[in-house]
Amino acid sequence: MSIDLEKRYSVEEYQSLINSVTFPVEINGDVFISLELLGSGHLHPVPPKPFFRESVVAFLVVQLYDYSKSGLCPGVVTASQGGFKIEDFPLSVNSGNGHPVRIIRAPDVSFTPRNQTRDLDAHQLHTFLGRPFTPSAIFEVEDISKRSNLANMRRKIRNEYMCARSTIRWAVVVDAEHETILVFHKTEDGRIVETYHDPATTLHAPNDILPGFFLEPLALMHSLEENLLSSSTEEEQNEEGNALCPYCREELDNIDAMVYHIRAAHLNRNRKRRELRKRARGKALSPRKRRKEDE
Ligand SMILES: [Zn+2]
Repeated sequence: MSIDLEKRYSVEEYQSLINSVTFPVEINGDVFISLELLGSGHLHPVPPKPFFRESVVAFLVVQLYDYSKSGLCPGVVTASQGGFKIEDFPLSVNSGNGHPVRIIRAPDVSFTPRNQTRDLDAHQLHTFLGRPFTPSAIFEVEDISKRSNLANMRRKIRNEYMCARSTIRWAVVVDAEHETILVFHKTEDGRIVETYHDPATTLHAPNDILPGFFLEPLALMHSLEENLLSSSTEEEQNEEGNALCPYCREELDNIDAMVYHIRAAHLNRNRKRRELRKRARGKALSPRKRRKEDE
């Protein structure tokens, strides 16, 4: 199946296109890593991110992943290629009756709380054909220094990510190149409040969306600078002496090794692991198989 940028696709056509395409894909001489589906039915090819910007995405994914494992608000994190189907019934279309607009967008980073993910069926987990669902918070890493880029981002967040039917209530745009952070917050009564955040201070998420989550923009900048500009070697950074792991008595060389070891070996042991794996196997059924079983 060929990619036609002029054509209007239904979600079903989009799904079979995605199934047949191997990414990255070349369109008219340019390389793209994924395809989004716009409300008009047209495809939006997504270009790859340059190294610096993608490293910011990775930083955010790790921060959110740590948070998701902290017990404060368990959930699932996705990165740049994780698409979501957003369905809306805009008042401008057919007086808001019927004729839904379906959009598939892939935010750079997303967080979906467990109370939403645990109810997803096989269609929702493995295809774009199931009932729409959206995360609670998203992050976009883009250059918004140009007025047109900023306008596009604003339109995408206000009209798509935060449309009436979407559950996304916190959206953070990080422009690391220009040290700019723009935050969108959809309040309980549906208003969208937009603020520029001072990168020198801690950014706290609203407590009813990501309770206790915070981001230190300076830590982000520091981690970028450390890897891209620092001249010190790994050995210089690890001066602490060795010690025994209090849980298994393994000897570790330094505090970084200790922290990594405890997290990897002892922290995520789940008592209910067997039961969860059994349930996961049920969900891993292919949608086609599941449909046959339903009949
Ligand atoms: Zn240990």
